[in-house]
Amino acid sequence: MAAGGRLCACCGSAEGVEEHHLYLKADGCPDDLTVFLCHVHHGQVHEMHALMRLHLCITGPGPRLMGAAVC
Ligand SMILES: [Zn+2]
Ligand SMILES: [Zn+2]
Repeated sequence: MAAGGRLCACCGSAEGVEEHHLYLKADGCPDDLTVFLCHVHHGQVHEMHALMRLHLCITGPGPRLMGAAVC
């Protein structure tokens, strides 16, 4: 994807945008979904994961809580 198309999903910033993996197929999700986040919000997401160790999977048959932290 072109760099110009990457915007932080939280704040819309185009500075230092990184791709964050929401869940992995290995965790039982049908898709390896990613979201673009700036460095600040990417860090915040990982801090949250470290505290909660949970992912809400919205791609399956229903909302599921996932236990694995991914990047
Ligand atoms: Zn951001
Ligand atoms: Zn990440």
